[in-house]
Amino acid sequence: MIVNVSKIIKVPDSIMELSFEEKIDFIESSFGKIKLLKPIHFTGKMVNDGKALCLNGFLSTVLELYCDRCTKPVETSLSINIKEKFSSESIDEEEIHKVNSGSEIDLTPMFIDAILLNIPMKTVCDTQCKGLCPQCGQNLNEGTCDCKDSNIDPRFTVLRTFFKDSE
Ligand SMILES: [Zn+2]
Ligand SMILES: [Zn+2]
Repeated sequence: MIVNVSKIIKVPDSIMELSFEEKIDFIESSFGKIKLLKPIHFTGKMVNDGKALCLNGFLSTVLELYCDRCTKPVETSLSINIKEKFSSESIDEEEIHKVNSGSEIDLTPMFIDAILLNIPMKTVCDTQCKGLCPQCGQNLNEGTCDCKDSNIDPRFTVLRTFFKDSE
């Protein structure tokens, strides 16, 4: 989304209201492509505070993430507060983005960065999700399998203790 700030960039205390949607199908992350199920929606304002342009608003979208336990797709809504500063002059502050001479700002890259930073560390389809059998891959929410895990089965623990005692 490209915003033209020519009307407010030279007028201190001027405000520009922003509200728009932008459809993006996928974003690239370090662990692969992430599908966006809804357009990025943004509402907020750009305020010229006399020194810089301050963008403040809310971004929302819905991502398709995958359950960490069973790999099922999970619709994940995000709502992110966006705060950014822009200036047409080169100000020696890391936080301030430079506005090009045409007074246009492309907000999309910073929206994508904000989404990537706000992806939850853990995704589960349900807190009760039983996950997949580590041996055969059976989705344990949908059914059981015949794999035996000797580390977990209590009967084996009892037998082991029995043999130890009789030695
Ligand atoms: Zn799951
Ligand atoms: Zn199994």
